[in-house]
Amino acid sequence: METLKRLRVGLGFDSHRIEPSGPMILGGIRLDVDLHFVGHSDADVLLHAITDAVLSGAGLPDIGQLFPNTEEINRGRDSAEMLSQAMQAVRDSGWELINLDAVVQIEQPKLAHHKLAMRQRIATILDVTVDEVSLKGKTGEGIGEIGRGELATAQCVALLYKNQL
Ligand SMILES: [Zn+2]
Repeated sequence: METLKRLRVGLGFDSHRIEPSGPMILGGIRLDVDLHFVGHSDADVLLHAITDAVLSGAGLPDIGQLFPNTEEINRGRDSAEMLSQAMQAVRDSGWELINLDAVVQIEQPKLAHHKLAMRQRIATILDVTVDEVSLKGKTGEGIGEIGRGELATAQCVALLYKNQL
């Protein structure tokens, strides 16, 4: 039982509206598409889901509590910096990341050509290796808000282990 208690999973989910004109920041990289996510920070839907996954695995407050969207300091904020701070809080509380697995659902742009760059960027932010970061891109099959290109969602699970008792 002790061994099992040293492992925990965290789940993160996020969604942001998509509107015309760039830039679009996704997975910590700037995509060459004339669209952007609407939000208080830079609205990187994938990094927000990852941030909540690692925080909740460690039993810490979520992204909305750590970086309230009512605070001016968080306006237009770089989500990579928020994720980096969140991961530091996770490590400070004695947890380390084993791996994470994320899915982004977005109609445009297609993520196939960007996935490796996003995984590398995320691995750098989290200070883990790229094989510990999995990412899949899905469309909305042309149906609903996602299929019409109005919304993007991201989900992430993160597995953590306790490296301090
Ligand atoms: Zn968000």
